Amino acid sequence: MDAPFRQLTPYAWVAQSCIYATNSGILIGNGKAYLVDPGITPAELERIAAFVATRQAVIRGIVLTHAHWDHLLGPAKLPGIPVIAHAEYAAVVAAHHDDLVRQIAAWQLGERTECPDVYALPSPDMTFDDHIHIHLPGYCLSAIAAPGHAPDALVLYEPVAGFLWAGDMLSDVEVPMVMDTFHHYRQTLEQLVHLDIRVLVPGHGAATADGTEIRARIEHDRAYLASVEKCVASAVDQGASLSETVARCGNIGFVQPDNYPNAHRWNIEQAYLEVGGSASGTIGWAQDWLVEEMEC
Ligand SMILES: [Zn+2]
Repeated sequence: MDAPFRQLTPYAWVAQSCIYATNSGILIGNGKAYLVDPGITPAELERIAAFVATRQAVIRGIVLTHAHWDHLLGPAKLPGIPVIAHAEYAAVVAAHHDDLVRQIAAWQLGERTECPDVYALPSPDMTFDDHIHIHLPGYCLSAIAAPGHAPDALVLYEPVAGFLWAGDMLSDVEVPMVMDTFHHYRQTLEQLVHLDIRVLVPGHGAATADGTEIRARIEHDRAYLASVEKCVASAVDQGASLSETVARCGNIGFVQPDNYPNAHRWNIEQAYLEVGGSASGTIGWAQDWLVEEMEC
């Protein structure tokens, strides 16, 4: 039954969802367990709970790396367990509560072709601004603020194993998605450069313990962000409109472009806004929240 669970360190396992290759973390030490973004389907959540139970561990907390719908479905299926999130989580949920509920409902309808469950979005029991320590016997993990992909994004780091749970960054299958700001994303990656990372788990895609691959992912994402910012700044300096800027910067390379037709364009639009470009209507990642109400 352990087949879907890959052990990465003496205390960390990862299980990958069939949805978006989303990773769930299971951290276990001496009868104590923490879950990271557990999900996504009910069957996957049941397997995670059963995996923890076979190790005679009790789940002490659920860490949510950020308030995007595909990371939020665990607590409703594992009730009564304290939820840990960044302090900005509440503001993101307050601003996008209805969008998140619509996104979850749209996914549920698409998956099951039936009326969705009514999900209450998780409410954190413990939040932090800069960092917080999470203790497993023999190990101390730090949850660290890591904005950029989202204002409330966090990473988990443990120095003995050099373990980094990166949330929705450093993926081998996704372009960096700047749903917060380029400024924050760049600062966060600059912080991560200084960590001794030997095991890396992205929110989506493959975990890796290959040092060359880990460094390449960090440098690739830093280079991508720098290229977009430079291209957009130059275009805005020359008075380019938004559509001209998108056209000029459209050919910057990134991973799996066919899977993410909008992501690169929305990143360009986000950078355009940040350097003071003017445009009307909803542009950039704000468009990602626009999910229509679905009838069932
Ligand atoms: Zn996300």
